[in-house]
Amino acid sequence: MSDNENSTAELVVETVPCPLCQAGVMRRAVIKPYNLNAGIVLVLFGLLALFTGVLAVFGLIALLTGIFFLTARKEVWLCDKCRAIVERV
Ligand SMILES: [Zn+2]
Repeated sequence: MSDNENSTAELVVETVPCPLCQAGVMRRAVIKPYNLNAGIVLVLFGLLALFTGVLAVFGLIALLTGIFFLTARKEVWLCDKCRAIVERV
């Protein structure tokens, strides 16, 4: 049965009981760990600074930081009952 090993492994669904409400089941979820508005502001400010040539280096840093804020993802466990979020280790 070694042929089925890979497909069988993918079918396994991890279920973890919620540590807070004990009733819910923790599901895999991906959240944005950073404030998206702050990321947008940083990107806009960075672009403005770059295009105007004022504080170009700082603008580049702000731009990169903003892009990092917008694209960063964090994998967590999310309870389907009480919406508790637990970081995945
Ligand atoms: Zn819960």
